[in-house]
Amino acid sequence: MNLDVNTLFMVTIYVEAILGLLLLFAWAQNTQIRAVCWWGFAHLIRAASVVLFGMYGTAPDLITIDLANALLFTAFAVTWTGARVFDGRPVEPVYLVTGAVIWLLVCRLPVLADAVNTRLLIASGIITAYTWLTAYEFWRGRSELLVSRWPAIFMLFAHGALFLLRTPLVALLPWSPTNNMLGSVWLTVLSFEALLFTISIAFILLAMAKERTELRHRTAAMVDPLTGVANRRAFLQDAGLLAKRHSSNPRPTAVLLIDLDHFKSINDRFGHALGDRVLELFTESARMSIRASDLIGRIGGEEFAAVLYDTSRDKAVAVAERMRESFAQIAQDVDGRPVCSTVSIGLVHCEAAVLDIPELLAQADQALYFAKENGRNRVEVASLEMILERKNSDKTAETATSVAAIAAKSAA
Ligand code: GH3
Ligand code: MG
Ligand code: MG
Repeated sequence: MNLDVNTLFMVTIYVEAILGLLLLFAWAQNTQIRAVCWWGFAHLIRAASVVLFGMYGTAPDLITIDLANALLFTAFAVTWTGARVFDGRPVEPVYLVTGAVIWLLVCRLPVLADAVNTRLLIASGIITAYTWLTAYEFWRGRSELLVSRWPAIFMLFAHGALFLLRTPLVALLPWSPTNNMLGSVWLTVLSFEALLFTISIAFILLAMAKERTELRHRTAAMVDPLTGVANRRAFLQDAGLLAKRHSSNPRPTAVLLIDLDHFKSINDRFGHALGDRVLELFTESARMSIRASDLIGRIGGEEFAAVLYDTSRDKAVAVAERMRESFAQIAQDVDGRPVCSTVSIGLVHCEAAVLDIPELLAQADQALYFAKENGRNRVEVASLEMILERKNSDKTAETATSVAAIAAKSAA
């Protein structure tokens, strides 16, 4: 199959321009991810460089080779800058133009005026450097769980490697001025690869931006912004999933309900901002008391819950005590203020064959009620007697309310 280089050039210009405009359009719709704007411009610059390359023979070499290459390197540098911006790193204006400047200086050197292969080598080196730098930037940000980051790294690495490979291959198939430039096999292969690369990388970069936006939305919907732990919805969802996953043969599990004591008075005495700081401190210390596999969530204003899966009753009580004690210790003095905050914890332990999270939370709530009743800053473990006692007291309260209502009615 013969690929006409002129047709390839035309297709590349259109494709680059369309992809550039597409990326800019995507950026205009969600300006938060600024990298997409950089990537859009990178494609437009590349389109401009291919236009200049395509004018080879009809315009001076200064434009069709020197300037065209300088633009091409800048396009790769802009993609690299986009990768830095994507992961919150600053723009490096000097390095952004370094490739183009080196190239233009090299073109001016009389020694290299006719050394086409050396100039080709330098050009390949610049492209590989920017492409691998882009891959490296994405690699550095790998702690962010974006699946599309990995194909981007792989593709950029492969594209850079191909340009480096061009160097030894040039020795086998020299690209000298005596060759027919536009008829060169190299030009066909590279133009075709560049076209495929540019299409795939644009889609992958766009996928990364889209994935990040979705991840941010998902996180915002599931994570409590103040403390960074799961919010009520996420906690109940995760606990439900855990129960479902182990529904056939669940291990002993403890559910803790934790409420900060007299928190309203802390807000009143020291201000809401310090109250927020206390909530953060509690989460930090609670996280240190549990395992990474345990679940913890903020289920209300100053109320937290935890699920300790595969934990014996004694171990769970020890964890709850540690949580209570360590918080009381660190919350004695907060930002130089004598806050002395404490928590009350209601704990329920379940050995049963079924993990019914809503039921366990209700029982932990009973235990928490008793922890508050019995003086706060303590851990209470739910028991059958406790539940019966609470039910009876609820009944008595109910009877008292109805008696009072009847009395009020008859008085009227
Ligand atoms: P108890 O020991 O009985 O639990 O008393 P309490 O004061 O802790 O309980 P109460 O329910 O009366 O008050 C809870 C307070 O928590 C009231 C509310 O202003 C405060 N609160 C809820 N969410 C936040 C928050 O995000 N930040 C701050 N600073 N305060 C909050
Ligand atoms: Mg409270
Ligand atoms: Mg409360």
